[in-house]
Amino acid sequence: MARYTDSVCKLCRREQTKLFLKGDKCHTKCVFEKHPTTPGMAPPQRGKPSNYAIRLREKQKLRRLAMINERPFERLVQQASKSVESSGTHLLGALEMRLDNVVRRMGVATSLKTARQLVLHGHIKVSGKRISIPSYRVKAGDVVALEPKLRENVGVKLSLETSKKINGRPSFMQFNEEDLSAKILRQPDRSEMGFPVTDQLIIEYYSK
Ligand code: SF4
Repeated sequence: MARYTDSVCKLCRREQTKLFLKGDKCHTKCVFEKHPTTPGMAPPQRGKPSNYAIRLREKQKLRRLAMINERPFERLVQQASKSVESSGTHLLGALEMRLDNVVRRMGVATSLKTARQLVLHGHIKVSGKRISIPSYRVKAGDVVALEPKLRENVGVKLSLETSKKINGRPSFMQFNEEDLSAKILRQPDRSEMGFPVTDQLIIEYYSK
């Protein structure tokens, strides 16, 4: 499986938007704000981008926001296309309810990478059961909780402060500040999903 090891800020510059891949630094020392140019030596493309290029960039933007490789992403799109609801909404809902993303939106981690690490290292329980699979799909009614010993962790405390400042917790979860857990009240609405993309363009990219 290909693993991206270069600077993540290049991805923001490539997509020409802030993808918030570096946690706290994205709110204080953003590289894209200082250098909003596309990376590499090639001169910027002139003229209007083609329809294909627009759809490709939107797909890449979502894949990078969700930190997912092409094959699993494609599988999610295939599942979404068989759904009874709108394919785009289904796809974004599936990404939103991944355990790593839920942990990020709880505010105990400011980047998806850190949230994924918390999950992989076994610091997260879902309804009392330890789950260490970042792609685990959380359901309405589940309670996602951080391990008690991490409540005093400096990184977690910093993340909670940042989360308070940016007010990023969605209303489909009820957060408990005492034990740093979140009850998932329902499936998220489209307006509550944290991926600023045009989902229709992504579905069109795969239906070519
Ligand atoms: Fe993107 Fe964050 Fe880097 Fe800014 S600091 S370019 S938002 S990853």
